[in-house]
Amino acid sequence: MSTHPKSERTKKENRIERLVAVSNRLPIAVQRKGGGWQVQAGSGGLITAITPVLKNRGGLWIGWSGTTEEVDWGEELNIASQKSGYRIHPVTLTPEELENFYFGFANEVIWPLFHDLTTRCNFNPKYWYFYLQVNDKYAETIGKYSLPSDYIWVQDYHLIAVAQMLRKRRIARRTGFFLHIPFPSPDVFMRLPWRAQLLRALLEYDLIGFQTVRDRRNFINCLQYIAPNLKTSGRGDVLTIQVDGRTVRVGAFPISIDYENFASTSAGSAVQTKLHWLRESMGGSQIVLGVDRLDYTKGLPERLKSFRLALERHPDLHRKLTLVQVLVPSRTDVPEYQQLKSEVERLVGEINGQFTYGGWAPVLYMFRNLGYEELLAYYRAAQIALVTPIKDGMNLVAKEYCACNLEEEGVLILSEFAGAAAQLQKNALLVNPHDIEGVADAIYRAFTMDPEEKKARMKRLRESIKKNNIFSWVDAYLAAAFSKKLDDFPTEEEYVPDIRLEREQDS
Ligand code: UDP
Repeated sequence: MSTHPKSERTKKENRIERLVAVSNRLPIAVQRKGGGWQVQAGSGGLITAITPVLKNRGGLWIGWSGTTEEVDWGEELNIASQKSGYRIHPVTLTPEELENFYFGFANEVIWPLFHDLTTRCNFNPKYWYFYLQVNDKYAETIGKYSLPSDYIWVQDYHLIAVAQMLRKRRIARRTGFFLHIPFPSPDVFMRLPWRAQLLRALLEYDLIGFQTVRDRRNFINCLQYIAPNLKTSGRGDVLTIQVDGRTVRVGAFPISIDYENFASTSAGSAVQTKLHWLRESMGGSQIVLGVDRLDYTKGLPERLKSFRLALERHPDLHRKLTLVQVLVPSRTDVPEYQQLKSEVERLVGEINGQFTYGGWAPVLYMFRNLGYEELLAYYRAAQIALVTPIKDGMNLVAKEYCACNLEEEGVLILSEFAGAAAQLQKNALLVNPHDIEGVADAIYRAFTMDPEEKKARMKRLRESIKKNNIFSWVDAYLAAAFSKKLDDFPTEEEYVPDIRLEREQDS
């Protein structure tokens, strides 16, 4: 067990805790520049969420730097740490580790399996050993830079075995884990050759967080396999499990977005200018918007087929509705992803070939990363958002679209297999992404929806997302982890740690 029984805690351990964030990638991007290296701050929801807890509060972030080359950090890390307000400690990966741990176990085993796509799994035994080896590297780095009083918060499916490796190294820390992707049902999970090991590894954490109650239920059902006498107690968001003499808490904490930032930036002049230009260029056609990373979980071919069927069945959509599909490049060197891209582009070509008329083409397709303000302008311009993943941990695009819908006139079409559906189902149009006719009907329904109904639905969607934002997600997790909130962490004036002096040997 990785917690300290209270009686055994030393005075020093009882000091104000710091948070140590651990994720596969550090919140920085490293690039070669001239003879040296340049470090740039990264961005994204998780970084926005965790930064306030780490910033000027003695926090640390441990993760991979993003390169397998030997980096001569020089002063770059100190500068990056100073800029971000928390210490950054990189884990170094060899090319072989990257290949087998990241591209192998994480991306060819856990990612497809946890998204119910078992036929895409490659259960190569070598991957598993590298997964454990790399998780152990993270544990080693945590042991080196953290203190026994720190709380270690591990993020996502790449690092399930970190708490177990900490215990093997006899590094006693309080630990929590959050799974950003779904957890599959026993029927799917049981195909994993290392099913018992992975479940036992998860049980080494003191708190395990899932995106939804459904994911948590799946996990508990899978646990029956290794622990038929498992006892669950409690109600609500966090349950307690007694298993193998250990007490582990499991919670549902739906992740969210920085609502205020999306809402205020989308009201700003930079977005406004882009929006104006966009509306002009659409020539009066409405927009149905898709924004996705290139991934086979996103239901892209199904979505395009649904849009084609909607156009076939409803000629009144012609010239009046355009699908704007943004595809963000991802894992482009993997053949499966290249094939998916080709299939999407073939379908886009077919639909445009079939329906383009005069100056109107039914699909506007972009394969690139949009700038923040450009993305927000598309969110604002779109009358309908089409968010139809086959399976998704949460799907932040659905929430971002609503936050930016300032006029409250948009309609969200949402897959029932996105984690976001648990929260948004009443006011979105819920669809089964495999049901081409059902999605085509939903597109038409959204297009013809009465303005008052649109307004009422979008208003409630936005209220819900505003209330359950990214900061309340962090607060909920930290409250469950150790009865703390964001504001309870020490500020710089209260606590400036000197890691070199305070580092302790765990043995
Ligand atoms: N996004 C981006 N660049 C773009 C378009 C979108 O970085 O060109 C962001 C978007 O704002 C969202 C994220 O990518 O925060 C996608 O998150 P989501 O949960 O929807 O799916 P994921 O890609 O994590 O599976």
